[in-house]
Amino acid sequence: MKKPTITVIGSINMDLVTIAKRMPVQGETVLGEAFRLIPGGKGANQAVAAARLGADVHMIGAVGADMFGTELLQHLEKEGIVVDGVKPVTDVETGIATIVISEGDNRIIVVPGANHALCPDDLERWEEKIATSDVCLLQLEIPLPVVEQAVLIAKRHGVRVILNPAPAQPLPDTLLDQVDILTPNEHERDVVLAGRPMEKWAHKLIVTEGKRGVSFQRNGEWTLIPSFHVPVVDTTGAGDTFNGALAVALSKGMALEEACCYANAAAALSVTKLGAQTGMPTEKELESFLS
Ligand code: ATP
Repeated sequence: MKKPTITVIGSINMDLVTIAKRMPVQGETVLGEAFRLIPGGKGANQAVAAARLGADVHMIGAVGADMFGTELLQHLEKEGIVVDGVKPVTDVETGIATIVISEGDNRIIVVPGANHALCPDDLERWEEKIATSDVCLLQLEIPLPVVEQAVLIAKRHGVRVILNPAPAQPLPDTLLDQVDILTPNEHERDVVLAGRPMEKWAHKLIVTEGKRGVSFQRNGEWTLIPSFHVPVVDTTGAGDTFNGALAVALSKGMALEEACCYANAAAALSVTKLGAQTGMPTEKELESFLS
């Protein structure tokens, strides 16, 4: 069987994670317990999820000419992802997220950096790649005009588009009309539609509902595909795993319900380990979990 071919257009970040006994108050310095550099960004996470499940993944994005950029590209390549669509940017740093974890709470500052240097014209070179993909997978951590241009190109070639509208922002009707599948969580669904009636786009919504599972409309009725019961360690990246797996399942020709079940299973496995990418299952691990 032909391998699924997926183009992911999105963010590539380094997460700078500091763990401390307590948060410093303003002007205070505290000693931390540990520090870790963890590859992240929704685009990169979803690309890794799809690649682990056996897809040929082509990543389009941007990183700075700095050590994080170099490291993140090497990391993606190790996962078997083709990175020639990742633009090197010299005047701005690689995107980062500074995450402080303390007392079960976290504080996060995201600096988009190079991710926001991606422009619609950058996609022209990769039209052929997008055109020959089974699925084009997008999120909202890159500029909206880039997302809109990607959707235009994909639809010009009849390529299926999955848009994971995170982080949430209200989206124009034209974009909602063009994408094939939208995968918000419940909060994102409300923000993305921004008070407009859901009915118009309900047939393309796949709403992730955390440990409950995922809902979509079947013959006009909302149907819940329940999640799998697993021992939960860390739910970070569950949504990214779900989206990468959904893209793979649909590329393999699964019907929506079966694809949601497959993506639920991949996301369930991902929450059993610490870190967004660490727990993302391989094709073999997922098959043995489902058998
Ligand atoms: P995140 O931003 O943390 O990646 P999200 O808000 O985008 O998550 P969720 O709706 O929380 O996405 O989760 C996505 C999918 O992951 C769910 O639809 C479900 O399949 C799976 N999932 C999440 N939490 C659990 C859990 N506790 N047990 C099993 N599966 C889970």
